[in-house]
Parts: sequence; structure tokens; C-alpha cells
Amino acid sequence: MKRKNIFLILVGIILALVAWGYLGWFVFKDAKESKEVISEIKENQSANEKQISSDLENSAIEDEKDDWEQVEKSEVESEEDKTEEKKDKKENKLAEKEKEGEEKEEDKKVEREKEKEIKTNFISWGYSTSGRKAIDTIIVHSVYNSLGGDQYSLSKILDIFKNYNVSAHYLVDREGLVHQLVSENHVSWHAGSGKMPDGRTDINAFSVGIEIINAENDKPTAEQYNALDNLIKQIKSRNKIKYVLGHNDVAPGRKTDPWNFDWSRVGGKQD
Ligand SMILES: [Zn+2]
Repeated sequence: MKRKNIFLILVGIILALVAWGYLGWFVFKDAKESKEVISEIKENQSANEKQISSDLENSAIEDEKDDWEQVEKSEVESEEDKTEEKKDKKENKLAEKEKEGEEKEEDKKVEREKEKEIKTNFISWGYSTSGRKAIDTIIVHSVYNSLGGDQYSLSKILDIFKNYNVSAHYLVDREGLVHQLVSENHVSWHAGSGKMPDGRTDINAFSVGIEIINAENDKPTAEQYNALDNLIKQIKSRNKIKYVLGHNDVAPGRKTDPWNFDWSRVGGKQD
């Protein structure tokens, strides 16, 4: 072979090697690049996935949080409801207690009114502090001012009592106010001479005398009937009463009072 040929062949081989190498590098480079792209894509994908899962997790947490908040809120609300309910119950109880208190106050007031219906107005004549016997009789009378002027005048009626030296334990005015003139422990001179259904004659000794202010030409008032009814009940609660009678029942022919009197308004006559 000629040296020139060998040189040409060598050059050819070198060229071929260079070309192959170039080509190879190219391919390698491409491959590397595509690998990088793939890895980038993968990285992105994984990042996305991470983001998504993190988002999901966050949203789950958020949801859970929301749920808890909801639960807590509803619990608070129901707690508030309960508190409200308790408050309502308390208020109702308070209202009930208040009502009861008011009713009790009303009862007390009625009680006081009843007490007030008896006005102590003791007189100094017409009775005896001795000779009192066990009380078992109530005698009801009528009286009015026959001296002229106001026929219901209390002071004039007391003047008449004083003039005759008589009295009664109680005197009920037209408004239903009860005046106590003589203590029940004393013998009031109200009945005069008379006779009980059982034959006893010392009527003042064992009886309580009650005068109603009314005349022969009128009737006792509703207030008087109510007051008298209460008074009779009170006297009965303190004493074992056998008789509740009118003056006319124990002194017939001599006395006609109580006038125009309806016994059914005070629990009836007791004879
Ligand atoms: Zn009388």
C-alpha cells in the first residue's frame, strides 16, 4: 500500500469516529435532555400531587374544623338554649313565688281587714265586771238614733245607751265596721229581762250582745250582714255557742228587734 492511501484511510477512520462521536454525543444530549424534561415533569407532577393532597388535607382539616366549630357552636347554642330554659324556669318560679307572695299578702290583707272591722271603742257604763258565766249565747239587736237628726249617728246612739245605762259588747255600723264597746269578759246589760228556750233568765251573764244599726223602716246593709257573719264565726271559734237568737226571741211581747232581719245572711238562727 501506498503511504497516501494509508493516510486517507486513517483520515476516513478519524472522520468516521468524529462523526460517530458527534452523533453519539447528540443522541446522548437529547436523551439527557428528555430525561431531564421527564424528571421535571415528574417533579411537577409530584409537586402537584403534594399540593393536591395538602390541599385535600387542609380542606379536610378545614371541614373538620368547620364541623367542630359547628358542633361547638350548636353546643354553645344548645347550652345557651338550656341557660335560656333555666332562666325561663327560674323566672316562672319567681313569678309563681311572687304570685304566692301576693296571694299570701292578699290573705294577710283580708285578715287585717277582718281585724280592722273590729274597732275597740270601750265605754264606761252599762256593764258589770263581775258575774260573768261561760258564754254559750249570742243575742242580735237593732238600734237607731230616735233623738232626731241622723238616725244612724253612732255618737247619738251611744248617748242613748249612756242615758239608759245599757250597752252591747259589739255595735255594727252601716258600713259594716264593728265597734267593740265592752269586753266579752264583762257582763253587758243588753238583754234586760227575758227567758231562754231552756228556761234560763240571767241572759246577760252568759251571752254576747251585738247591736246592728238599723231602724224599723229600713234593712241592715250587705256590709253589716257580712261583718255580723264574720263576728258570729269569730265568737263561735272562741266559745261553745248553743244559741244564736234575736232580742225578740228571748223577750217576746216586750221587744221586736232585730228589725227586718234576714237570718239566712248570717248562717241562720241557732235555737
Ligand atoms: Zn234589743
